[in-house]
Order: sequence, then C-alpha cells, then structure tokens
Amino acid sequence: MQLLLVEDDPSISVPLAEGLTREGFDVIVASTGAAALAAPPCDIVLLDLGLPDLDGRVVCQRLRERSSVPIIVVSARGEEIDRVILLELGADDYVVKPFGFRELVARIRAVTRRMKAGEAPSPSTAITVGDLVIDQRSRAVTLTGRAVGLTPKEYDLLLCLAADPGAVRSREQLIHEVWDEHWWGSTKTLDVHVASLRKKLRPEMIETVRSVGYRLTEG
Ligand code: CA
Repeated sequence: MQLLLVEDDPSISVPLAEGLTREGFDVIVASTGAAALAAPPCDIVLLDLGLPDLDGRVVCQRLRERSSVPIIVVSARGEEIDRVILLELGADDYVVKPFGFRELVARIRAVTRRMKAGEAPSPSTAITVGDLVIDQRSRAVTLTGRAVGLTPKEYDLLLCLAADPGAVRSREQLIHEVWDEHWWGSTKTLDVHVASLRKKLRPEMIETVRSVGYRLTEG
C-alpha cells in the first residue's frame, strides 16, 4: 500500500517514514505542498497542515478534487483548526501532534479498511433509488445519469442511507457506521456531510426526521 507522507519537518518525517515502512507501507515523503501535488497517485495521504509553501488546507482540497484517496490531516497542537472546514475540504480523519505511532497506524488501517470494504465486489453491486444509482463496485454515483463526485465519507454516508431507502437511520447509527470511535465526535460532522450530500444530490432527497435522524427518499 502506497502512503504519501506530506511533512516538512525531517525530525518527524524521517522516523515516521521508517516506522510506517516497517508496518509494510510503501512510503513516499513530500516536504512541500507542491511536491505533494506532484507526487504519483497513492492509496492514502498523511497531510501536515503547516507546510512551507502552500496552506495544507489548499493541498487537501486540490488532492480531493482529483481523487477519492483517503486523507488524514495532521496538525500541530494548539493550531487553530476549523474542523468543519477540514471536512468540507474532504479530509477523512484528523490527528493532533504529538500523536502516538500506534494510534496513527490504527487510524490509517481503519480508514483504508473502510475504503477496501467499499471496493469489494458484492453480488448486488448497484443500488437504485429513483434516479439515483450507486455502483458499489466502482463507488460511482449517478443522478439522472449525471456523475456525482463524492468524498469517501459522503459516499459511505449515502451508502448507509441507501441500504434501506425510506427507512429512518438514527444519528447514532450513521455516526457509528460511517465514522469510527476515533473520530472527534462532534455531531456536527454528520450534519456537515448531510448538507454537502444534499447539495450534490437534491436537497429533498435526504429528509430530516426530527430528533431521530435521516431518511433517503427518491426526492
Ligand atoms: Ca509542518
């Protein structure tokens, strides 16, 4: 598995790259935002926000614009971060320095496991809800034949809602199934993703069931 480590501080990137290599990752280190954007496609990105040339948020957004690669953002302690903005930029998870190596590896594995689970061919590969089609094999989503570009989390959330269209999924269920216990736990996370899914699909397709959760409809 190829991991792109975007980190300008060699006192962090060198031991981290060594550790991750021992864990079996094929690590590419980029020490600037420009180098990160020029790097070959990889399976997961570990992105430090404090880079010398570009704002890490911009790097996150540009990476997200061109691929659905999972992105784990790394930030320095005390650095002010708007977590909602990070989510909107397409980050999948977030760790604060200093972090434990084991914890980081666990998060990388959790994020990549979810990607793999989504990629696994299943007997019923396409879910159709009205004019919405979710192809589970390719993780491609179309609405009235038009491709809808979703982040990995938006896709997972949509898939979770589409597993039983018309049924109400509680907030707890959705958070549990789409995020893991390591996620920062703000319930706003779910609302942000619902809001962006509504924008990308049709707003009325995701119905709010007050004080319970959400339901997917044909809109
Ligand atoms: Ca840095």
